[in-house]
Order: sequence, then structure tokens, then C-alpha cells
Amino acid sequence: MSLFRDDGVVLRAQKLGEADRIITLLTRQHGKVRAVARGVRKTKSKFGARLEPFSHVDVQFFSRGSELVGRGLPLCTQVETIAPYGGSIVTDYGRYTAGTAMLETAERFAENEGEPAVQQYLLLVGGLRTLAAGVHESHLVLDAFLLRSLAVNGYGASFTDCAKCGLEGPNRFFSLQAGGVLCADCRVPGCAVPSPETLVLLGALLSGDWQTADTCEPRYWREGSGLVAAYLQWHLERGIRSMRYVEK
Ligand SMILES: [Zn+2]
Repeated sequence: MSLFRDDGVVLRAQKLGEADRIITLLTRQHGKVRAVARGVRKTKSKFGARLEPFSHVDVQFFSRGSELVGRGLPLCTQVETIAPYGGSIVTDYGRYTAGTAMLETAERFAENEGEPAVQQYLLLVGGLRTLAAGVHESHLVLDAFLLRSLAVNGYGASFTDCAKCGLEGPNRFFSLQAGGVLCADCRVPGCAVPSPETLVLLGALLSGDWQTADTCEPRYWREGSGLVAAYLQWHLERGIRSMRYVEK
């Protein structure tokens, strides 16, 4: 039997029996962790409000086995709130749908329980903080998160230099297979040819250049989001269900 402690973001909370919940978290050191929270659905539970989706929490777990997986789920025995991002996310439809897609994507990229996914964890915390602050368009925050999640998982896209030969950009022909734009010599059949402004927007979102992203004309948002969604879908076997609810 062992106790361990970790920071994490609550991805999901599912009912378990009358009063309990199974909480799914993306943690800093242990990757995805599922744990049982007892009595959280009782009205005076100390845990209840702290273990809602989007919450950034510090949790103490009690594990009955020596392994995280396979000997029954660990129990949450203490929970401290680090940042209750859910408060300002769930009250705004645009933020809520973008945030839900972020949680689902993070879980998909950190599918193996107990396997550390530190960069994905840090991206999620940063993304939720930005989303909750409400200073940028919610769907742009989502697209930035998706592009960076793809990048830390080995699928970084290029939106300027040719993804095949490295020819300095701007280049125009976008290929999902190639992982970004291609030059006229490397282009393959079936490339999309997005607006140059859309490619500038996507490059800015990937690199965190919010000054450029925020001043992009709204008419390029939809084309950019479409390319990000297609690129994400290309690398994940099943699509992200909650993407369909995101307002663009
Ligand atoms: Zn090329």
C-alpha cells in the first residue's frame, strides 16, 4: 500500500454508485490517472466542488497495490485546489466547448495510464489558464493548443518552410501527409491551397505569437480551424467528438 501526491487537471468525473465518482486526471508526474473519490456527491463533501472538470488540483492518492494500474483504482484522499479554471469556463459557451475539446484531446494523447506526459500536462494547464482568462478568442486558444499538442507528440507542422525539402517560406501547398506546407517542386496531388493569411495565423498559433493571431481577420479563422481539425484527425485514429460543438 502506498501514498503518492501529484498535481493534475480533472479531465472527467463519472458517477460510481450512489455517492462516489471515478475521477480521470492528467497529472504532472504520473500521466493519466483514474481514481475513486468517495462521497463526493454528498452535498457537504469537501471534495465535490474541487474535483470538477477543468480544475487544477493537488491530490493525494492512496494506492492499494504497488502499481497504478491493475490492482484496483487508487483513492483520492486529499484534494487542494490550485486553480478552479472551471468557474469561468463553464459559464461561457465558447470557452466551454473549446475547453471540452482540449480535455478530450489531452486524454487521447495521454492514453496510457501511469505513463508520464509532462509536456502535454503543461500545455493543458497553460491552455486552460489562457482560456479562463478570456483575453483571446476561445477557438484560437483551442487551435493553438491542438497544434502544440500535435507538436509535442511528434507531429509538429510547418506553416512556412517546405516540410519536405526545407525551402524557406512562405510556401502555399498544404499537405496533411507531409505535415505542413510544400514548395512548388515538392507539392503532391491533393494539396490544399489555403490563403497566405491563414498560414500566417496557424504559424502564429503554433509559436505562441498572440499579437499576430489576435489581429488576424476573422474571415481566415474558419479555414485555419478546418486545417487544424483535419490535421488532428489525420494523426488520431478516432476523431475528437467534442470538436463538432466548437463555435467558429
Ligand atoms: Zn520543397
